[in-house]
Parts: sequence; structure tokens; C-alpha cells
Amino acid sequence: MTKGKLIVISAPSGCGKTTIAKAILAKYPTMLFSVSATTRPIRIGEVNGRDYFFLTRQEFEDRIGTGGLAEWEEIYGNYYGTLKNEIHRALDHGYSMMFDVDVKGALSIRRHFPKDSVLIFIKPPSIEVLKKRLENRKTENPETLKQRLDRVPMELEQGSQFDFQVVNDDLNKAVAEVDEIVQQNL
Ligand code: ADP
Ligand code: 5GP
Repeated sequence: MTKGKLIVISAPSGCGKTTIAKAILAKYPTMLFSVSATTRPIRIGEVNGRDYFFLTRQEFEDRIGTGGLAEWEEIYGNYYGTLKNEIHRALDHGYSMMFDVDVKGALSIRRHFPKDSVLIFIKPPSIEVLKKRLENRKTENPETLKQRLDRVPMELEQGSQFDFQVVNDDLNKAVAEVDEIVQQNL
């Protein structure tokens, strides 16, 4: 059986990583998506169990207590974490899996699975463009927009440790670059 790879995509919020991850998943029918757990409110269009497992803080803390999470972070005041079950769903059966996690989560996954993980950091063309994309997505209020932008300098710094960096200016070009990286590393 071939061994699956863990394709980990991170970026500051609003850079387009979810859009890129979905485009890549559409091209690789056998690649799985790691559905994370979170305590943030569900957005319009999201589906529980497909986009995230939406948990209460108590439920999330119970998962931490029972050791069910491979990694977790508190981001913008909410918990986000990768479920150990999700990783095993892929690795135990030789499937590759895509992760959409923050920079710290990505580096944790690489620490746990140094030989199996491929870390791809998506960069914005500029902070101004990033801000515009977040505003246009219409999912944030002024407070959560600020929280997301405040984290960008730390994320850009940590992103320099990733295996690959891709600028998401033209979406098709960025998807093609990520696709090339995935093909070379599966
Ligand atoms: P993230 O998952 O990194 O927070 P999203 O994938 O939700 O980002 O993208 C943020 C917004 O920017 C979305 O509205 C998306 O449609 C848009 N977007 C993504 N990539 C591009 C691009 N290259 N050019 C213009 N808009 C983009
Ligand atoms: P959003 O609220 O925009 O869906 O996600 C906010 C941030 O949390 C993004 O950077 C996203 O990649 C990150 N994230 C999502 N799931 C996980 C996870 O399981 N672990 C970690 N560490 N970060 C996650």
C-alpha cells in the first residue's frame, strides 16, 4: 500500500487558502479533507461535519482532556483543533489528506509527522488586498476583522519555515502552483 501524505495549507485569514484547498481537493478525488473541530460560530453555507465539527467550549475542552486532538490552538478567541481520528482516517488506509490549519497547527503537524507532511504557506499580494478580500467576504465585523489582521505579522514570520510559499494574486495561477507542489510530493 502506498503511504499517504499530509498536505498542510496555511495562510493569514482571507488569503484564499480555503478556496485553493477546495480547488485542489476537486482535482484529487482520493484525497481526504481533515475536518477540524472548532468553537467558532457556523457561517452561512457551512455544514457541520463537512467544513468543521462545531463544538461548544465544554465539548472542545472535554476532547482536549481525553487526548482526542493531535494539535489545537486558541485563535481569535475560539478553539480550533485537528482530531486524531481524522489523521488516522487517512494514514491508516494510505490516503493523502489536506489540512487547512493555522501556522502553529501546521508546524505541530510537521513535528508529529516529519516525513509525511508537506507544508504550503499561501501569501497575500499585499496587506491592503488581504483586508479587501476579508471585507468582501462579508463574514467579519470590525472587531473580528481587526483580530484577524493583528495576527498577520506573526503568521508571515512563521510562514517562512514552511516547505513552500505561494502568492495568491491570480487565483488560477496560485491553484496551478499548489497543484504542481502536490503532484511533486505525493
Ligand atoms: P481563507 O480561507 O484564507 O480565510 P478564503 O478562501 O475564504 O480565505 O478567501 C477569502 C476571500 O477572498 C473569499 O471571498 C474568496 O472568494 C476571495 N479570494 C480568494 N482568492 C482570491 C484571489 N486570488 N483573488 C481575488 N479574490 C480571492
Ligand atoms: P476560520 O475561522 O477562518 O475558518 O479559521 C481561522 C483560522 O483557524 C484559520 O487560520 C484556519 O486555518 C485555522 N484552523 C482551522 N482549523 C484548524 C485546526 O484544526 N487547527 C489549527 N491550529 N488551526 C485551524
